[in-house]
Amino acid sequence: VWNNCLQIIKDNIPTQSYKTWFEPIKALRLEGNVLTIQVPSLFFYEWLEEHYVGLLRKTVKKQLGDEGRLEYNIVVEKSSSSKPFTTNMPSTGNGSEAKYQSIPVAVTLNKDIKNPFVIPGLKKLQVDPQLNPNYCFENFIEGDCNRLARSAGYAVAAKPGGTAFNPLLLYGGVGLGKTHLGQAIGNEIKRTNPEKLVIYVSCEKFCQQFVDSLKNNTINDFVNFYQAMDVIIMDDVHNFAGKEKTQDIFFHIFNHLHQSGKQLILTSDRAPKDITGLEDRLLSRFKWGLSADLQVPDLETRMAILKKKMYADGIELPTEVIEYVAHNIDNNVRELEGAMVSLLAQSTLNKKEINLGLAKSMLKNFIKHTSREISMEYIQKLVCEYFEVPIEMVKSKTRKREIVQARQISMYLAKSHTKTSLKSIGQFFGGRDHSTVIYACQTVEDLIDTDKKFKNYVQDIQKKLKMS
Ligand code: ADP
Ligand code: MG
Repeated sequence: VWNNCLQIIKDNIPTQSYKTWFEPIKALRLEGNVLTIQVPSLFFYEWLEEHYVGLLRKTVKKQLGDEGRLEYNIVVEKSSSSKPFTTNMPSTGNGSEAKYQSIPVAVTLNKDIKNPFVIPGLKKLQVDPQLNPNYCFENFIEGDCNRLARSAGYAVAAKPGGTAFNPLLLYGGVGLGKTHLGQAIGNEIKRTNPEKLVIYVSCEKFCQQFVDSLKNNTINDFVNFYQAMDVIIMDDVHNFAGKEKTQDIFFHIFNHLHQSGKQLILTSDRAPKDITGLEDRLLSRFKWGLSADLQVPDLETRMAILKKKMYADGIELPTEVIEYVAHNIDNNVRELEGAMVSLLAQSTLNKKEINLGLAKSMLKNFIKHTSREISMEYIQKLVCEYFEVPIEMVKSKTRKREIVQARQISMYLAKSHTKTSLKSIGQFFGGRDHSTVIYACQTVEDLIDTDKKFKNYVQDIQKKLKMS
């Protein structure tokens, strides 16, 4: 009977799908009008129920009459000594009812059997987590740009699967540290819990593996492997776009891991609400836990990143060089590092000491925008350094003379050297309104006209600004 069924099924679906989903099925017995088939895993069963329930129902009815029913026998463990168990799934019952009944079965199953997917003995297996050891928390500089993401990552690393941040979705533009942070979580988990099975995989690689496993008829191993993990770090999930079948598989894997308290860490180049080409049900899962973004690091953080990197490589550079590079390459940490590496390489080749002059001439190619805008941040920093006042004071409410002076000069320079509106300038310097900015500029202009010392200050700072 089953062979007849297979014949019908074969004619109704693509060969590849038939090979993948139906060839591994074994017919066990036929009792009355109940046909029992054996499928290699729970996942298989769910997949059949989800994708082929209609076809199966029709086919079995054709062969066994309207009362015909199909029962599944699911192999829980791989070895022959495993005890298969049967679910009483009337797939071929009438209409929607049958589909509905698959839900309680799956639920009970997960309650009774702790984790049907962990093949005994597999835990002893070593899985190479595919992590780069340099991508650790220690090397990941903290800044305002990444504070939430970093601390959420740290929390997840301390208690994988045990926080509300599941999945943890890290998102942000290119070169802002998503891969680094994602892997840092993995490395930290491996450091504190070496027995945990952690796997880092790019979404692209996962998609490729899926296609290969279809080709090689190893889909079951593929799914079992991922479902046996304690932690999956999946990089660049926006690449799932348009790959419906792979999304389907990952949806199943995601659910099983999530249900059994396993940790998922995902990265994406944009916020979940902006990810396109993903099935709604998968996207909604992605939003279950915490989404934390990585932003462009500010100047201070960029400098700290460079310093740390140089220090790790045993290189010391004049601060002004680091500052120059960090100031001019301001939207991508990868490029920032690239510029520094190229600078080092060229200085070695030419046997020249690295100083500001060299940095300027060599980084010309790296800095695309020659007339780039000076940032308010940079103005604020220069002014504060010049007057030796703490940087955060400028934005504060204080009316101390030297702070007020630094604040007013900063506003004046922001107005004359950037295209920022008065309103935004006021906003930046402590949430003040635009009339305060106008007043500040007026005051500075008056003082330049009347106070020679003051004029020198401002000119000095302007010189520094132009140097950058
Ligand atoms: P993404 O995956 O977001 O494109 P990466 O994680 O590959 O970015 O980061 C690019 C480079 O920048 C890597 O070499 C990484 O180590 C470095 N990097 C990014 N953010 C930081 C940070 N906060 N501290 C130290 N290095 C960083
Ligand atoms: Mg990346």
